[in-house]
Amino acid sequence: MDFNKEQLSQFRTYTDNASSIVLIPHKNSDGDAIGSILGWYNLFANRGINAKVVVPDEVPENLSWMQGAADIIVHEQDELKAVSALCNADLLMFLDFNDIKRTGDLAGVISGLSTPRVMIDHHPDPSPGVANLMFSDVAVSSTCEISYHLMKAMCWTDAIDSRVAECLYSGIITDTGVLSYNSSNPQTYLAVADLVSRGTDKGKIHREIFQSNSIGRMRLLGHVLCNKLEVMAGSGAAFISLSKEDLDRHHYQPGDTEGFVNYPLGIKGIGISAMFTEKEKDKFVKISFRSRDNMPVNLYSEKYFSGGGHKNAAGGEWNGTLEDAIKRFKETLPGFVDENRKK
Ligand code: 5GP
Ligand code: MN
Repeated sequence: MDFNKEQLSQFRTYTDNASSIVLIPHKNSDGDAIGSILGWYNLFANRGINAKVVVPDEVPENLSWMQGAADIIVHEQDELKAVSALCNADLLMFLDFNDIKRTGDLAGVISGLSTPRVMIDHHPDPSPGVANLMFSDVAVSSTCEISYHLMKAMCWTDAIDSRVAECLYSGIITDTGVLSYNSSNPQTYLAVADLVSRGTDKGKIHREIFQSNSIGRMRLLGHVLCNKLEVMAGSGAAFISLSKEDLDRHHYQPGDTEGFVNYPLGIKGIGISAMFTEKEKDKFVKISFRSRDNMPVNLYSEKYFSGGGHKNAAGGEWNGTLEDAIKRFKETLPGFVDENRKK
């Protein structure tokens, strides 16, 4: 990855002069978001730079093993501490998002601050003015991979120890389905090779992230695949719906449905998948979309579900009932698919 000289020099000026940096990921943080904030947190610690991590909501259990996770301030659980950290910061770093709205309830606090902001991200269409300095590239697998290249470009390679490496490695593998998609650039493998050579314990990470499921999650997955999966063959789509009741019955914990949306893409002939999760009974539904090849689910989500994301992995929201969200999907998806097949 190439960075321009002015940007690197601006980043150096910001970090050299900051006495308190606050690192912020998006809401419902995933492996790339937590891996990148903690990767930087550990790197700054190794360089003697004071940083704090403020996240909007709870960190999924299967990511809590990362070095530094215990120091994370969760805004939803400790609002005073989170707001105080933000107000006392002299540099904010946004990781894995490009629109302040993606930080949920933190957005109001952040918008009121005039603190300089640096954004590192790989989503399309950054919202105008979101940061003073942006390192943004949609062609890169993950924010963790951009972070790795940026650390190297800043000549901070010596500070990439095993703790930093494990965080960055985790984000690369979780954002690429363990190097199965968004990972055709050889640069990604060179980054992974270097991170592994810096002491990344691959076996431990795969156990922690993918083989630490609760029995509730495993049974919920069984229930979903057996009873909650519907195929729309004409559109090459399939979707999963999960009601609040389904989640409660399976003792849902944050992160428990992570990855479920990928399963329908395993069905022959299915190139679009969606998962509808009722977060508040009859009031709020969170939606995940996945696709293959040239089907831009981010544009679909933006148009019909106030969302966005990447071409093949996007998310959206619905204020209303689960039934109405699914009705809208069934009504709008076939037309969108037809239009895009013609292109
Ligand atoms: P996931 O389905 O894993 O929650 O999200 C997939 C991708 O879509 C991620 O890159 C995430 O940042 C993006 N995304 C998820 N939900 C939303 C949303 O409500 N709005 C926007 N703009 N992007 C979203
Ligand atoms: Mn990401």
